[in-house]
Amino acid sequence: MARVTGTAPRRNGEVSFWWSSIGRDAPRESLRGSLDADVVIVGGGYTGLWTAYYLAEADPSLRVVVLESRFAGFGASGRNGGWLTSAIAGSRSRYAAAHGRQAVVDLQREMIHTVDEVLARLAAEGVDADAVKGGVLSVARNRAQWERTVAAHAEETAWGDPDATLLDRDASLARIAIADTRGALFSPHTARINPVKLVRGLAAAAERRGVVLLEDSEVVSVAPGRVRTAAGAVEAPVVLRCTEGFTAALPGLRRSWLPMNSSLLVTEPLGPELWEEIGWDGCETLGDMAHAYMYAQRTADGRIALGGRGVPYRYGSRTDADGDTPPLTIRQLHTVLTSMFPMLRDVGIDHVWSGVLGVPRDWCAQMNFDPTTGLGHAGGYVGHGVATANLAGRTLRDLVLGRDTSITTLPHVNWAGRNWEPEPLRWLGVQAMYAAYRTADRRESRSGSGTSVIARIADKVSGRH
Ligand SMILES: Cc1cc2nc3c(=O)[nH]c(=O)nc-3n(C[C@H](O)[C@H](O)[C@H](O)COP(=O)(O)OP(=O)(O)OC[C@H]3O[C@@H](n4cnc5c(N)ncnc54)[C@H](O)[C@@H]3O)c2cc1C
Repeated sequence: MARVTGTAPRRNGEVSFWWSSIGRDAPRESLRGSLDADVVIVGGGYTGLWTAYYLAEADPSLRVVVLESRFAGFGASGRNGGWLTSAIAGSRSRYAAAHGRQAVVDLQREMIHTVDEVLARLAAEGVDADAVKGGVLSVARNRAQWERTVAAHAEETAWGDPDATLLDRDASLARIAIADTRGALFSPHTARINPVKLVRGLAAAAERRGVVLLEDSEVVSVAPGRVRTAAGAVEAPVVLRCTEGFTAALPGLRRSWLPMNSSLLVTEPLGPELWEEIGWDGCETLGDMAHAYMYAQRTADGRIALGGRGVPYRYGSRTDADGDTPPLTIRQLHTVLTSMFPMLRDVGIDHVWSGVLGVPRDWCAQMNFDPTTGLGHAGGYVGHGVATANLAGRTLRDLVLGRDTSITTLPHVNWAGRNWEPEPLRWLGVQAMYAAYRTADRRESRSGSGTSVIARIADKVSGRH
């Protein structure tokens, strides 16, 4: 095949590089007719599968059914950037205002533990997800970003990550050679994973514990005691909705979590000379301190997978089909890649794809259960869902089983969010927010000044901080 360079990717969409490089499993059975269960879960991503897994472990006699509209790992869980991160999914100040400061410190500790819990479960279940706990490096590339890095370091240590370290320019470059590096924030509590290896292994582990996972079974209505698909229904006293970025498509939930788009590219495998130049021997997950931030990992097969916002939101909370990504987004991602790694200018892009994550109006995750109706849900992790979904699984388990544990009092439990604005305000608001972040990033890198006032206003208006 001819060598593809620049921004023309060999593959676009097809759900994700992670799926196309591994290949799909044989399809599982679909729901046909009626079924009785103790717990029915809508959505076969990390949240639904971890919840099913932990419930089946806690009480093997429970009949747990997971209904998935396409196939397990079709959503963000099979498309993400592979950061198993201890970052909390939500606003610390909002959680603290409602529950007190200590509750947020406890949440941070629990997230640090959650990264290790996932790694321990993968090991115990014999799942090789290419996990390397190399930490996270958030690099600053101009003065404003460096100022935010120093502030972020103070914030992380104050709120429960005592291991967050400020790296000067040389220490940062010694880890990863990124152009224009000023310095970085490093925390050891993040692991790189292959998202699909995680979700496939988790689905198989849940099934080994007796969970019934049905695919090609799109739920069209969710009510207390019953969910329906076009071909059947499941009756169960407990109904859990675990559909994150797809939630707005369910009846009555259009203005709930906003399906925020995120896109990734993956390079062709890099040769040893390029890796020699770049470094990245620790397999740290890599982010930056820009407002429209990027995230990346060095993959197990020697590529760089790099993601960012692209087209952030589609009118009317629509989601794409199979991750097809527009040319403008591809160009934007490629610009970020080559600006950070100029030596990759002639390296080919093998695959680009996109996915949706769930953003609540107040940017705070929810893990909710009402024992009177038996209805529950979890999600809204605003891009920090890989580890948080595991915590959600354990939390929903405890809430469903009526257990009072240290995790059922964390701030995101039974958190009440409000709805997004109706269209066209929703679309206009998100477009304006990301346009503001891009403008702020441009100004900061051109002027060498501190954090742009435009970004501060966008933060306030969007409800992000
Ligand atoms: C491109 C991208 C990059 C990301 N990178 C990271 C990262 O590096 N680190 C991080 O922590 N987080 C990241 N995230 C976020 C993280 O991947 C998600 O928060 C997490 O995977 C959510 O898991 P979930 O199970 O709640 O949702 P999903 O994985 O989206 O699963 C929901 C499932 O529900 C199914 N479904 C939807 N509607 C129905 C229905 N009506 N009936 C039946 N089934 C239905 C879907 O098909 C889907 O499989 C990223 C997200 C995206 C999109």
